[in-house]
Parts: sequence; C-alpha cells; structure tokens
Amino acid sequence: MLEELNIANLLPHQVEKLIKELTLLLNQQEKSSNVIYEIVKNEKNIVCCPICNSCNVVKNGHTKKGIQTYKCKDCDKRFNDLSNTIFHHTHLTYKQLVKFFECMRDKFSIRKTAKLVSISVTTAFTLRHKILDVLRKIRENIKLHGRVEVDEYYISINLKGTKQENMPRFSKPRKSNGNGKRGINSHKVCVESAIDEYDNTFLEIVGNGPITSEMAKNSLTPKLQNVSELITDCKSSYESVAKENNWNLIQIKSGTYTNEDGDSLANINSLHSGLEVFLSHFHGVSTNHLQGYLDWYMFDKYLNYTTEILEQVEVIEKNTINKTSNITYSNVYNNYSGLDYNVIYSDYNYHANSST
Ligand SMILES: [Zn+2]
Repeated sequence: MLEELNIANLLPHQVEKLIKELTLLLNQQEKSSNVIYEIVKNEKNIVCCPICNSCNVVKNGHTKKGIQTYKCKDCDKRFNDLSNTIFHHTHLTYKQLVKFFECMRDKFSIRKTAKLVSISVTTAFTLRHKILDVLRKIRENIKLHGRVEVDEYYISINLKGTKQENMPRFSKPRKSNGNGKRGINSHKVCVESAIDEYDNTFLEIVGNGPITSEMAKNSLTPKLQNVSELITDCKSSYESVAKENNWNLIQIKSGTYTNEDGDSLANINSLHSGLEVFLSHFHGVSTNHLQGYLDWYMFDKYLNYTTEILEQVEVIEKNTINKTSNITYSNVYNNYSGLDYNVIYSDYNYHANSST
C-alpha cells in the first residue's frame, strides 16, 4: 500500500491523518506480545527440535495464542516456535522488550531495569541471563589471530546470589590473621584475557589463584590460531603453551612499558581497565554469573566498535531474538563459574550447608 502512495504529494491534513493512523497501528503492535512471535517466526529458516536438535519434525496445530506447534518425530516431544527462545515463559510486549534491550545497552542494574520495563526483578534477572547465555555462544565461536597480547585479570570471589542450600558456611578461620590474605591468592578468580591485532577479545574464568601453565594451555590452545606473536609479561606459565604451539613468545619485563622492538601490553591493559569500569555499573557481580558479564563486556565492545548508539538496540535484538537458551527460572541461580567454593575455602574450614 505504502509503495503506491507518494507521500510527497499528500496535502498537510492528509499527512496528519496518516501520522495518526500509523501511530495508532504502532501502539497496537507494541502492546501485543504476538509481534515478538512474528519476528521470531520470520527469522527462522528451518525448525528443529529444541530438546534433541533433530530437524525431523511435523507441524502439530497451534497454541491458544496462535503460535505454531510441532511434534518431533525422533523424540516425540511437542514444542512451539517460541520454545527455549529467550522469551519462553515470559509475557513481554514488544515495547517492553525494546525497553529491556535499551537497559542492557545503558548497562542498568537488574532493579532499575525491572522498574523501567515494569516486570519483576526475577523476570528481569532470568531474561538478562538468558540473553547472556546467547552471547556466550557467540563468544565461543570467536578465534584470535596474528599478534596476540595475553594477561590475566584477578577479581575477588563474590558469593552474592548463591542459593541458600549451596551457600558454604564459614567457621572461624583457624589462624587468627586468617582474613589477611593479600595479593593474588586462591580466593581470587583468575580470568585469562587476550586481545589480537583485529581487536577480537577473549575473557574466560580459568580457575582461582595465580595462573598455572596448565590453565594457560587449556584456555589459549583452542582459542588462538595462526599466532605470529604471543605477547605476555614475564610469567613462566606462558612458556610451555607457546612452545607446544610454535608461537613466537615475546615477554615484556615488568615495570617497563615497551621492549626495544616497541612491543607492549597496552591493548590488554586497556581491555582490563575498560572491564573494571563496565563491572562497576553493577555494584558487585556474583562469581556464579561473572562469565556472563565477561561475555557481555566483549559483546558491548564489539557493539561500540561497529554500531552507532541509536542502532545498538536493533543489533542486540537481531543477535538474540530467535536464539535459544537453556536458562530457566529454576536453574538461573546455579553456579556457572566452574569453581568449587568448598575446595577453595577448605583452608577456612568452610563447608556446604547441606544439612539445613
Ligand atoms: Zn526431538
């Protein structure tokens, strides 16, 4: 209809009428949650079973809301176009969804987001972590090449949000000065970090305490390809991984900014200072969910490199709206850090509170 209409030829009162009608239409669409369904449906090329991944599926009627349902011929389960997408079990309208993405772009806290979008804190928390789970899958496919700077980022363990039954219980420290651990100790999360000459980044929780050769090897070997130079500080932990992979290792002496050849760790240092600022928006991120925030930081950096601020919400939508996540209301509070707090705090006579 609009293609036939030459807007330039309309008279002022006709333009006004058109604006009124379009605004009304937009309002109706924004209030409906079916718009989200229409977008997801349009972006889907093939339908596969979210339970067993088989694409051997048949159409099987519609839900009350008119959403297409399917039956998987391999595992016999029924599902619909929204099953396991980030909107599964949410009743957001399109307007609320866009507001939610805006809050993510602006790095608002969960509480502030919940208030602005008019949803519960639990819904905001779960939806955020579904989206971070989608960003994790994007990160997993990124490889780093060429000149790569590598260093670690250490951050104190934060037990915020750990479920009561999983919360370890402190006994009094055995030593009177037990709280006086300083520097890089076992109560710090070790985040292996890398940035290549194309600004691809990598931030991954690899354990607790100072980095070991094993941690460096397990995290870097699968992520780095065709490395021309691996630039690190003087830690010996990087020697074996560089040797095994035939990477040319350049180590910068501590206290010096660059070596004689002009190599430096400037890019990785600025990645770390950016991360500090990013995390400060959230007033203490729980270690259980830290990896999600690291993935978000990397996605945010990518967004800022590639996309004007006004178009960022659209890009977030495009990258997440028809993607699936296994995060649900019941598993969202699990510990996704890969760290075992009972082992880490064993010297504090610290043990899981499982009997209550
Ligand atoms: Zn199936």
